[in-house]
Amino acid sequence: MSYFDQTTETLDREQLAALQLEKLQTMMSELWGRNRFYTAKWKAAGAAPGDIRSLDDLARLPLTTKGELMADQAQDGPFGTNLTYPVESYVRLHQTSGTTGVPLKVLDTAESWDWWGRCWAHVLAGSGVTAADRVFLAFAFGPFIGFWAAMEGARKLGAMMIPGGGRDSAQRLELMRDTGATVLCCTPTYALRLAEVARETGFDMNSITLKSTVHAGEPGANIPATKQRIESAWSAKCFDHAGASEIGAHSFECEVQPGGTHIIESEFIAEVLDPDTGSPVAAGQRGELVITNLGRWGFPLIRYRTGDLVELNLEPCTCGRGFMRFEGGILGRADDMVTVRGVNVFPAGVENIIRKFAEVDEFRITVSRVRHMDEMDVEVELCEGADSGVIHSIAERLDTLLSFRPRVHHVSHNALPRFDMKARRFHVNRPQL
Ligand SMILES: [Zn+2]
Repeated sequence: MSYFDQTTETLDREQLAALQLEKLQTMMSELWGRNRFYTAKWKAAGAAPGDIRSLDDLARLPLTTKGELMADQAQDGPFGTNLTYPVESYVRLHQTSGTTGVPLKVLDTAESWDWWGRCWAHVLAGSGVTAADRVFLAFAFGPFIGFWAAMEGARKLGAMMIPGGGRDSAQRLELMRDTGATVLCCTPTYALRLAEVARETGFDMNSITLKSTVHAGEPGANIPATKQRIESAWSAKCFDHAGASEIGAHSFECEVQPGGTHIIESEFIAEVLDPDTGSPVAAGQRGELVITNLGRWGFPLIRYRTGDLVELNLEPCTCGRGFMRFEGGILGRADDMVTVRGVNVFPAGVENIIRKFAEVDEFRITVSRVRHMDEMDVEVELCEGADSGVIHSIAERLDTLLSFRPRVHHVSHNALPRFDMKARRFHVNRPQL
């Protein structure tokens, strides 16, 4: 079993809680009076660093939302007031992908960036990466944080990092082959896209000897049918990981692959709350992930509402880590669910059905309203030579899942968009209810 920091990773729950409390108290003292955003927020809530004497006291602090951070940057641009140090202390700028609006800018000091690297070292070591590995990053190295921090994680482990920016899919495959890459980091969608390009161009996938793929940027590696498809396309183990530009890389799948991801509890405090009432939900119950990062003092987030739905699992993992798990990874987003004809439809559930059909290369779902009636159209691209009879089978399986029959269309090859970051396959074109 490979660890990044075995001593910390194998602490028991009590020791972990003590470590988290100590880090939280130290961070709050550092922020108080320096970080304008949090000092003002805590003062308004009547809270001060000395009030936090146990982890239970965390609930006395106000929640933080992405909307607040966006409004703060809009008002006090370009970087906002969630900065603990003078702007000269910061060494890196990144921003969110901006798929849902104006990107949020995030700044890191050298210390905060080192913290990002530590988190990613947990992620990579958790999947079995060692100094002997060559980690290929199939990523366009732009301002989106994406896999920038994975590079730092690989460096901490002593692995070789191979940047794959500035080239197309065919060139990336060749570079992976020529450099003997053993680990691929990319979105789940893009791992499948690379395999598709290999098939179309006659590239020999056996010429790349990967042992694992590590994913970020979007869900998928936790959707069983998608995970299985990536593993069979690459003859490698596929590992899930989750994080976000504003909060950090917070959870990872270990080598045991227990059906969920460990939270890096030495660097984060995770709470799972009922999104409507704000009360904590019990382990095994679904709720919204509210997370506090403990090591990014330059751009901290305390009790940040992620909008991600998770279920905690406190059972020990056979990998030996004391870090608790998100059962099934990130299960979806609170704002993801779409109600169609009275049925709650989760995009991940639909993807899990469609990806089970090996003939499907790409798909897109559109929900619309026609004469006061919800319609769901599923466009499906099949790989060349596939029997189009599969379209009928997909419609039947979706009918069983959803209790209504969506319209499933066979579209021509390459009719649908391809993505290398943040795939968008689910569209809603109807007035809000
Ligand atoms: Zn484990």
